[in-house]
Amino acid sequence: QATYDRGLKKTSNSLGEKLNSFLAQFRTIDEDFFDDLEDLLIEADVGYETAELLTDELRNEAKLKNVKDSKLLKNVIVEKLVELYEQNNTKDSKLILKTGDMPAVFLFVGVNGAGKTTTIGKLAKKLKDAGNSVMLVAADTFRAGAVEQLKAWGQRVDVQVISGNTNADPSSVVYEGLECAVNNHIDYLLVDTAGRLQNKVNLMNELDKINRTIHRKIPDQPQEILLVIDGSTGQNALNQAKEFDKTTKLTGLVLTKLDGSSKGGIVLAIRNEMSLPVKLVGLGEKAEDLAEFDAEKFAIGLFH
Ligand code: GDP
Repeated sequence: QATYDRGLKKTSNSLGEKLNSFLAQFRTIDEDFFDDLEDLLIEADVGYETAELLTDELRNEAKLKNVKDSKLLKNVIVEKLVELYEQNNTKDSKLILKTGDMPAVFLFVGVNGAGKTTTIGKLAKKLKDAGNSVMLVAADTFRAGAVEQLKAWGQRVDVQVISGNTNADPSSVVYEGLECAVNNHIDYLLVDTAGRLQNKVNLMNELDKINRTIHRKIPDQPQEILLVIDGSTGQNALNQAKEFDKTTKLTGLVLTKLDGSSKGGIVLAIRNEMSLPVKLVGLGEKAEDLAEFDAEKFAIGLFH
């Protein structure tokens, strides 16, 4: 809970801050109240449909429980947020951990700047601290800076990074990583990929080829294909998720920068419109600023 509170409380623009000050206004709970609440939710990136749904449920619940004091609605809101998040839960909402003898491969996709490299660095540390062997692959051979950044994380958290020459075929670098991980009995192989959206078709083909390369080498892998999205990009994050899901069949999402200017509400928008779980959240730039997503902690954290 501490990580969530620390990460989420910073911004006065956040969903939690907005709800907090709204509920503290000692207003009568009437239709105007619910209209304003709905506007607030839309402003906080919850999405129109989700905002309407949530407001309707709160209206019913308030009537049913005869809630007169808006502050008391907090608990009901937390309850409803969790419910909303957990419905349509068709996929594993936690990271799928390694079970077999072969390395578990996690493929990270997302646009440049979303936080892929940082997330991989943080997750490498988490997995390593839990006693696993971890290896990283720098498959964004397009940008030298991306490779350097992943190597820096590799050094920081003390894990090996497999990389190729600039402009090498990303799939060949991934193949080399797979060989190396299998030969060294590595538990987790985390693959960083390119995110240039300027040439979307090429990027999607490249990701598809990487995915097939992994699958050919180890048939039931990659077991996670995680889309990393910058939580502060608002509704645009939803479009990205839909775009990537078309080609790479995602297993889940990582939402980063929930500590920054993010309003947090996008978690619910994505949840309601796609049946994709948020598996991890980024709450800062340091190695320890990564948490497993937990709907209840998230909802409670909003109000701290
Ligand atoms: P990539 O291009 O997708 O690999 O993105 P990077 O990992 O390079 O991240 C882009 C920038 O976002 C870097 O400056 C990171 O330090 C920063 N960043 C990534 N995750 C977080 C986060 O959870 N919180 C904050 N505040 N910054 C983050």
